[in-house]
Amino acid sequence: EPLKVLLDRFDAQQSGSRRGSITLLTLDTVRNGLQNGCIDVFFQPKVTVPDRRLAGVEALVRWRAEDGRLIPPIAFLPVVEENGLIDELTAQVFQIAVSAAAGWVKDGLNIKVAVNFSVESLNRFDLVDFLIDTAREKGIDPDKLILEVTESRIMEEVTTPLEILTRLRIKGAGLAIDDFGTGASSMQQLKRIPFTELKIDRAFVAGAPTDDEARAMLESSIALAKKLDLSIVAEGVETQEEWDLIESLGVEIVQGYFIAKPMPADELLAWARANGDVTA
Ligand code: C2E
Ligand code: MG
Ligand code: MG
Ligand code: MG
Repeated sequence: EPLKVLLDRFDAQQSGSRRGSITLLTLDTVRNGLQNGCIDVFFQPKVTVPDRRLAGVEALVRWRAEDGRLIPPIAFLPVVEENGLIDELTAQVFQIAVSAAAGWVKDGLNIKVAVNFSVESLNRFDLVDFLIDTAREKGIDPDKLILEVTESRIMEEVTTPLEILTRLRIKGAGLAIDDFGTGASSMQQLKRIPFTELKIDRAFVAGAPTDDEARAMLESSIALAKKLDLSIVAEGVETQEEWDLIESLGVEIVQGYFIAKPMPADELLAWARANGDVTA
């Protein structure tokens, strides 16, 4: 029986699928698709507050089904992670992302690119050389890269991910703690891992205008990040009200539908031009 997962708000325009529930891809589909070009990558702007300049992008994986539909990560990442296929996915996403970044540089847009890493993909020491070499081959310096890691399960694998992340940091890559506030281990991780950026989960942003508890979490996360000298990104800003609140709290960078949705690499360039970020 196919498993169903809930779709939050993966946009119909992007995915062709309706809101509600979506069927997890099968292991066969995932295995075949990974070898046959089904991995696609969209890019979502991160902008500075309050001037809305492009600060960088986050690369977000999509599955391009045979009929052209786009399928969101929630429908295949669990299958990938649970079946030992995450290294393959990570490698493809990273290669596509740095290729896109190199293309933008040729068009006069030189920005940081953030890529998401599952903890499972931070278990091989050859990852460091692979990432640095792949980026350098395309002419992208390590300091243009940000690795985003969600806190949820990183504590289970104690030493290897920490060492890999630290080595990448030493080479100049940025490290973001993603979905901050949603996992029990946030504080522990902040102490152990040399993060450069803290991404506050959308739940706290969305709740903050009306919910005192969400607001308290938001404000204390911001205070903590400032004390630790981390840059702060508010995720999932959807409304003017949320933007205004985030601005009043002194957050430096915003990512969310209020500014732009994730989009293909060529659209990102057009978006940046329209936004005045391309000088060449
Ligand atoms: P994430 O890293 O926290 O990425 C942000 C997610 O929030 C993205 O969902 C993005 O489309 C969505 N988002 C951005 N702005 C808004 C907004 O204003 N409102 C709402 N409702 N959502 C917004 P997406 O692309 O479905 O990705 C979901 C998660 O899948 C990501 O969360 C990340 O944990 C994971 N993921 C995505 N790409 C990759 C990848 O290449 N590798 C790995 N390992 N994980 C990935
Ligand atoms: Mg992320
Ligand atoms: Mg996040
Ligand atoms: Mg997330």
